[in-house]
Amino acid sequence: MRRARERRTAELVAARELTPSVRELTFAIREGSPIEFVAGQYANFHLGQDQGLQRSYSMAAAPSDAGTLTVAVTRVEGGPGSEAMHTLPVGATVPVDGPWGLFTLERVPPDAPLLFVATGTGLTPIRAMIEAELAKANARPVRLVFGCRREVDRLYADDLDAWTSTHARFAFDTACSRPTEGGPAARVQDRIPEALEALRPHGEPHVLICGLRAMVEDVRALLKEAYAIGRERIHTERFD
Ligand SMILES: Cc1cc2nc3c(=O)[nH]c(=O)nc-3n(C[C@H](O)[C@H](O)[C@H](O)COP(=O)(O)OP(=O)(O)OC[C@H]3O[C@@H](n4cnc5c(N)ncnc54)[C@H](O)[C@@H]3O)c2cc1C
Repeated sequence: MRRARERRTAELVAARELTPSVRELTFAIREGSPIEFVAGQYANFHLGQDQGLQRSYSMAAAPSDAGTLTVAVTRVEGGPGSEAMHTLPVGATVPVDGPWGLFTLERVPPDAPLLFVATGTGLTPIRAMIEAELAKANARPVRLVFGCRREVDRLYADDLDAWTSTHARFAFDTACSRPTEGGPAARVQDRIPEALEALRPHGEPHVLICGLRAMVEDVRALLKEAYAIGRERIHTERFD
């Protein structure tokens, strides 16, 4: 805990636009001990002129030997934290502490089928967990239901596509709420029944949900009321 509280200095070493509203940033720790996180955890970034603005961002990639922290940030209209992360120049340094959070696979039985549900940058901790899970010699099936507004908002789509080609146990479905390319409008809630059906023969799935509060609560209620999935099998992270 003391180590998590330690403020390190992190340098932005790479950045790229993932979608029109999401920027991915990769940081290297320059001063202080490494942030040894588990996939699914987050770090706190101290932003703004006097570094008094604290915002949390989940690591979007599984831990690597390089020891870097990669996060993906949605630009929120009028939001000072996300604005600071979107305008931070490569080479700039920011104070960071962590890792924090219990939204990981550590409390999920190792052979339970997994259903991940994410909207927007709620995909970030889930992407890290899927990446870490698929690197293991595990056989359990892994499903992802991802929700976004338009097709251009599908972040990390290339990685997800690549993982479906290389791992027969992984599949994902995208629900666009305001499609612009002619497909049907859908929410993640609409795609959950099919995903649960596919997992059913493999055992009782654990469900990991991440995004804004309204979606997380809605999905939690659906799982409980329509599928009698108990709270011990539902794991959530809310961004607001
Ligand atoms: C544990 C944790 C992990 C988080 N991980 C991420 C992450 O990986 N990526 C990320 O972009 N944000 C993440 N967030 C949200 C982030 O900490 C900030 O709240 C967000 O960047 C908005 O800060 P702001 O200062 O720009 O806006 P503020 O003025 O603080 O406005 C906050 C409002 O912005 C909205 N909001 C917050 N996050 C998002 C979002 N991701 N997409 C759309 N609307 C949002 C909510 O309605 C919230 O009420 C996380 C939050 C928590 C608690």
